[in-house]
Amino acid sequence: MRKKIVAGNWKMHKNAEQTEDLLNELIAKIPTDTDTNVIVAPTFVNLASAVDHLEFTNIKVAAQNVHQAEGGAFTGEISADMLKSVGVDIVILGHSERRAIFHETDALIANKVNTALEHDMTVIFCFGEELKDRQSANHFNVVENQLKDGLFQIEAKDWEQVVLAYEPVWAIGTGETASPEQAQEMHEFIRETVRKTYGNEVADTVSILYGGSVKPENAKEIFSKPDVDGGLIGGAALKADDFVAIVTAI
Ligand code: PEP
Repeated sequence: MRKKIVAGNWKMHKNAEQTEDLLNELIAKIPTDTDTNVIVAPTFVNLASAVDHLEFTNIKVAAQNVHQAEGGAFTGEISADMLKSVGVDIVILGHSERRAIFHETDALIANKVNTALEHDMTVIFCFGEELKDRQSANHFNVVENQLKDGLFQIEAKDWEQVVLAYEPVWAIGTGETASPEQAQEMHEFIRETVRKTYGNEVADTVSILYGGSVKPENAKEIFSKPDVDGGLIGGAALKADDFVAIVTAI
């Protein structure tokens, strides 16, 4: 059985008070008996308080990034050990905004993945093609290369700590969603790509999330596809009612 997961990436939104308000709403509204793994990723400065706030709930906390080094002269950066020390053991890596705006390469992301796994963190590994790749029918190649170059250095045993998040860049924050059929086609391709290198057990147990303008209106249909195990949610994760509707759409 694969884990069902809905994760909210809050990006650079919500100050301390707003974080607490949104968490309170989520605590009140997310069913306590859900078998969906619910994760929220507030900004770094609000992680420690979010962990405290959510201590007796079924909502987990993720970081939006981590540095690849153990520590040192890296002004402005945060290490895996620091995250773990405040109770955060999940990290989102490879997000398209990190790749595009902060120039993170597959090689750098691979380093970050290795560091996070060495610290026994769970990695939500994001990847996905740009519009030009899909228009030139190169999207399967791009996705395969991102997986191979950013993730396939890990050992089979490490896959227990990995969640995949397919996020076509053209659908992130644009209101443009991949159709449920496009999502399924790519998720199936991803699972088969994992199978070729790591075998059936890994391929059949890894959760593959879809991300890109998921909303309450389209979540159910996307999540109904056999290889879609949940979602990574951006904009709609910032409103409690929308996020809860998505969580309960699986
Ligand atoms: C994201 O940034 O991971 C994302 C999926 O954003 P949105 O849901 O806003 O498209």
